[in-house]
Amino acid sequence: MKIIDTHSHYNLAQFDEDREAAIGRMREAGVGTICVGIDLETSKLAIEIAGDNADIWAIVGQHPTEWKKEFDTVEFAALAEGKNVVAIGECGLDYFRPEDKDHKDEQVILFRQQIELAIESGLPLMLHIRPEMHTMTAYEDALDILEEYKKAAPGLTGTAHFFAGDIRIAERFLDLGFYISFSGVVTFVKDYEATVAFVPLDRILSETDAPFAAPAPYRGKRNEPAYVTEIVKKVAEIKDLPLETVQEQLFNNARTLFNL
Ligand SMILES: [Zn+2]
Repeated sequence: MKIIDTHSHYNLAQFDEDREAAIGRMREAGVGTICVGIDLETSKLAIEIAGDNADIWAIVGQHPTEWKKEFDTVEFAALAEGKNVVAIGECGLDYFRPEDKDHKDEQVILFRQQIELAIESGLPLMLHIRPEMHTMTAYEDALDILEEYKKAAPGLTGTAHFFAGDIRIAERFLDLGFYISFSGVVTFVKDYEATVAFVPLDRILSETDAPFAAPAPYRGKRNEPAYVTEIVKKVAEIKDLPLETVQEQLFNNARTLFNL
């Protein structure tokens, strides 16, 4: 294994037909992955998949758009103790759709419950922060909350998955000691090049978010962890560094943050 796709979803229905074959393709590409839960059921499935595969780890938590469901603190705390569980999430704030943005208060409660679980269990956070178009409010609200917890719990850490913020937002995450995860989007839009260039190489993670958001040249297809190689290539290109150097550093970053 040479690359870790730090955020993917083999636990979703899009992989029900060919999960084993897709895992085989990942292995052939020299990739391992972290399978992320979005609710209780998919968190349990992530643990099951991780248990069957030495190159897959699990993250347990509840997605911000799942704010209608109560967070089962007891069940999630028990899951967090699993030996293959490496973080809490994906959790955070999602203001992209009005029907979610209108329920900020519920989202904040759900987010705080998971930050508190991360602190109790000593695990990092897998953050899902999605702003409304042309705003950074979701990031600003999430950072205000994280900065508040960080004062009492200096060990709190994590990563901003599918980063869509600007340099100013990236800077606040870096100041908190968090990592920044770039997805396939960097392979087909230029908007993130300045941010990729800005974030130090030892604080960058690469991820697919498979089955979503396939990188070029696979756009429009179902995404797979094996395709994370395209994102690593793009980071190396933007940083103007040898692929080997970037690949090795991103691998070490994932191992350090998630204690793999
Ligand atoms: Zn995800």
